[in-house]
Amino acid sequence: MEPLHEIYECEKCGAPLDLTPETIIAICSYCGFPNTISGLISPDEATVVPSLPENTLVKGFWSLVRRDRDLRKLRGINLMDIEGHYMPVWAGRVRIYGTVSYYERRVETRGKTTRTKTVYYIDKVDREEIIVVPARRQFTGFGAKELMLHYAQTRPKETILSSIESSTWENIRLRVLGAEYDKKTAMKLIVDEAVDNLREEYLKKGDGIDCFDIHVTGPFNVRLVLLPVWNITYTYAGSAYQAVFAGWDNQCVIRTEPLTASQRALSIVGGAFLSFLAAPVAHLLLTMDNEISLGDFVIIFIIGTIAFGLVANAFKGARVER
Ligand SMILES: [Zn+2]
Repeated sequence: MEPLHEIYECEKCGAPLDLTPETIIAICSYCGFPNTISGLISPDEATVVPSLPENTLVKGFWSLVRRDRDLRKLRGINLMDIEGHYMPVWAGRVRIYGTVSYYERRVETRGKTTRTKTVYYIDKVDREEIIVVPARRQFTGFGAKELMLHYAQTRPKETILSSIESSTWENIRLRVLGAEYDKKTAMKLIVDEAVDNLREEYLKKGDGIDCFDIHVTGPFNVRLVLLPVWNITYTYAGSAYQAVFAGWDNQCVIRTEPLTASQRALSIVGGAFLSFLAAPVAHLLLTMDNEISLGDFVIIFIIGTIAFGLVANAFKGARVER
């Protein structure tokens, strides 16, 4: 008779592993090694991008502080906390091809008559792309998107997880976040993501899409990749800020930064100026045409929003730097 439960052991230290039926990667509670569990994933489909050691990341942070045009002006920055872990993502290559037709609306004024002209464009698309999607549902961490993009752009060297020696793992060991999506789910997510990215790209190009006939082949070479990510919390003048670093090349992928005194002043002046500007612009827009169009209100709203954003930023004293 078949045993009801298969006993899984850590392939590095032999300790028993705690498994649920959805476990794709089981983290050994004794040595911390991430074991791939066959069935949902084959051992050569899981890789790791080895992390640099913590002290290198700390050095990287201080070198960023020295290099950065704004940060280097600030005296009294303190490194408050540093934390590193491996984030599981699924990566795969797709070919995406087909036809996209999109349009642009142009307003032409000739004398007293104004008319809207629609210009159509047709693009043939055929490209190969590396698509990266999170392997977890809860993945809204600060910088997660930027980290995945940085991975797709830099293509760091990956090592097959099962081929890593225990001694090597000791050197690159970090906490590993659990993976929730299996390969089948991931393949579907990768295809969806590829199509969504393309649609978004074309929505930005024009005012709308009227035909989107796009096909995807793949994904090919689909694998679960553990990406090292380091979160650094630093303080300046009593406030805390975040910097997220890629653990393979020490690049800061996103950070919040204190506003310098001059930036803060500029934001307030700019916001105030725009607020004063909004009223005359509104008056002009509303009296210029005989008709009041929705576009007039949109312009007024945009000016108001920018003004508010500038002033709000000045009071928060932080901005996001990618
Ligand atoms: Zn172990």
